[in-house]
Amino acid sequence: MYLRLGYTLYRRAFLFGDKMSDIDKNVINVTKASLPPFDEYTEMLRDIWDSAWLTNMGKYHEELRLKLRDYLKVGSVQLFVNGHSALEFLIQAMDLSGEVITTPFSFASTTHAIVRNGLRPVFCDINLRDYTLDADKLESLITEKTSAILPVHVYGNVCDVEKIQEIADRHHLKVLYDAAHTFGEEYKGRGIGSFGDASMFSFHATKVFNSIEGGAITTGKPDEELMAKLYELKNFGILGQEEVASVGGNGKMNEFAAAMGLCNLRHVDSYIEKRKLVYERYMENLRDVPGIILPELNPDVKPNYAYMPVRFHGYKRDRDEIFAVLKSVNVNARKYFYPCINAYSCYKDQYDVNDTPNALLASLEVLTLPIYPDLGLDDVDRICTIILN
Ligand SMILES: *Cc1c(COP(=O)(O)O)cnc(C)c1O
Repeated sequence: MYLRLGYTLYRRAFLFGDKMSDIDKNVINVTKASLPPFDEYTEMLRDIWDSAWLTNMGKYHEELRLKLRDYLKVGSVQLFVNGHSALEFLIQAMDLSGEVITTPFSFASTTHAIVRNGLRPVFCDINLRDYTLDADKLESLITEKTSAILPVHVYGNVCDVEKIQEIADRHHLKVLYDAAHTFGEEYKGRGIGSFGDASMFSFHATKVFNSIEGGAITTGKPDEELMAKLYELKNFGILGQEEVASVGGNGKMNEFAAAMGLCNLRHVDSYIEKRKLVYERYMENLRDVPGIILPELNPDVKPNYAYMPVRFHGYKRDRDEIFAVLKSVNVNARKYFYPCINAYSCYKDQYDVNDTPNALLASLEVLTLPIYPDLGLDDVDRICTIILN
């Protein structure tokens, strides 16, 4: 039954499908793009005009790549036109085969990137503590066809990286992280993009850090070979003027995007600081309410406050009622992630969503509330009052 409901609401569940008509001054959306001061960006445009170098790994592209390597505390970075294509090219570069174990509780991109590489996703359930892949259920899903694990640091919650790595090592599997939600985070002092074989970041307009559209692949130790392969793949597989070595595509980040990334990078720490105030205000307002389960910060993680996921479990109103009431006062919270990926119309025939009961439950009970740097604390109070009453 929820399945049918799922398809009807399917399109509405995605922020990225929004039209401009949803963007109105009186409407509070789940997120809002962070922008640098206008003049900072236009100053960089002057340079682009003077050089007439618009794309194809220009000067801003290289500057952003190096600055991100430092900021993210990783060994190497390759930039892409968006996070999804970064992930697709990464999977291609890794030369995987057969099955990839992943989570059904994520954005469509994670699973699509596997399938579009001709591989079969195998869904592992999540834990209900932080909604990341349940590492205790991982090993039973490994078969002789498994070649990699693709977990997601969902909402900025860091996966059990140690346990996942230990299992992967024992079975000789690659570990690729979808780190789209974890820009700037650290785990035990290490950049979050340094775990596993590689990680993908998204710099989409709606993320903590944006380059309008953009993405990156990072590795812990410098990995010249992988970076060269990714460079080749994002540029049509071209090796030199007279040699095309692989079946690549076009995944290049342009200079306008790189310039936006450079401007936003100067301010991203203050964006995160402001998000923290919003996050804390929600926590103060909603703490100790029976039936409302709030996120818990992991003391080993330097957080980025990317999302405000609240779970309504046995509360006087269910998640969909809260969603509708907020909507009626122009507050657009989001049902991230509903439906689960294994319940999408394009996958449902091959999977049973009941095989991942925690992901199913989370998809029905979690609501992500609006959070962005300049969301007013009075607006947070207003949203909480509506939820509580
Ligand atoms: C945003 C996002 C992506 C895709 O990134 P784009 O830059 O929009 O292509 C992938 N996975 C997750 C979990 C995301 O939130």
